[in-house]
Amino acid sequence: MFLAVDENGIQITAAEAVKNRKYFCSVCAAPVTFKSGSIKLPHFSHHRILDCIRYMYKRESARHLEAKHDLYLKIRGIAPLAMEYYLPEIEQIPDLLVDDELALEIQFSIIPASLIAERSSGYHSLGMEVIWLLDEASIRMDNGMCIPTQFQFSTAYRRSLFTYNTKTKKMHRIILHLHHGCGRWSFTKTEVSAEALLERKEVPAPRKVQLTEHEVGRMIHREKQQKSVLNPTLSFMYHLGVDAKNMPRHLCWSIEAERWILNPPLEWKLFLYHHIEKGTFDMEAFGHFIRMRIVQGSPPKQKVLSELLHGYYMLYNSQ
Ligand SMILES: [Zn+2]
Repeated sequence: MFLAVDENGIQITAAEAVKNRKYFCSVCAAPVTFKSGSIKLPHFSHHRILDCIRYMYKRESARHLEAKHDLYLKIRGIAPLAMEYYLPEIEQIPDLLVDDELALEIQFSIIPASLIAERSSGYHSLGMEVIWLLDEASIRMDNGMCIPTQFQFSTAYRRSLFTYNTKTKKMHRIILHLHHGCGRWSFTKTEVSAEALLERKEVPAPRKVQLTEHEVGRMIHREKQQKSVLNPTLSFMYHLGVDAKNMPRHLCWSIEAERWILNPPLEWKLFLYHHIEKGTFDMEAFGHFIRMRIVQGSPPKQKVLSELLHGYYMLYNSQ
């Protein structure tokens, strides 16, 4: 762990801590020891890590164990591999650790997206990457679209979800292309071998996609169902005098930067259209309006905001 609290309840990073002082876990409040040596990065360590509340989620089902052993056997002959190797600096035990640089985590049970993000950044802080393997059967597909939950989305690595199926013994990669509204994503699903998994291929950024009239209609319908007078989509539409039938064409597209935000495709573009038309655009207000999605390794918000603005201008100018 890199964070702890001191006797006065003040949060301290391992870089600021000094030896022979009392520190406590900020999650479970148990005493932790500050360790700083010449080999490992300075860190805090629980006396008994399994007592910490953060480890509640680590309890393993029989299916989890089976998946871990399956993957161990698949990867063993291909790359240096360790099972359940304890990483003291971050107090994490990846299911499998490949070549000291890639953690594989089997995550069949649902845990908070914030915990996925926290554990992922633990690995990132050690210069490692992490691929989370989800339960293939838990991924919702409908009419050629993938509808990942926020938890599933938080695990996305190189634009993709990865799954393992203990019955078929197969791994799959689901590349999420673009958001078509209402949590529906265009995707490509392919089986991946252990070799391909370890190769960690990048996928190119998708081109923008035009949303169909049906998709735009569905998004507006969903906003209406919320029955809130403060609904931003509906109030921008009202002030701009537009409806599903005469929606300005440049608002009906989905772009890559939307991967990182929770705002629906129509909503944030209506915000920009409204404020730019009225001459009331304000960067700070835009920043407040955009809600970031929790995804491992997501770019900083400022970068996402400027990509959204850039994307919007490209759409506006191409009409
Ligand atoms: Zn703790």
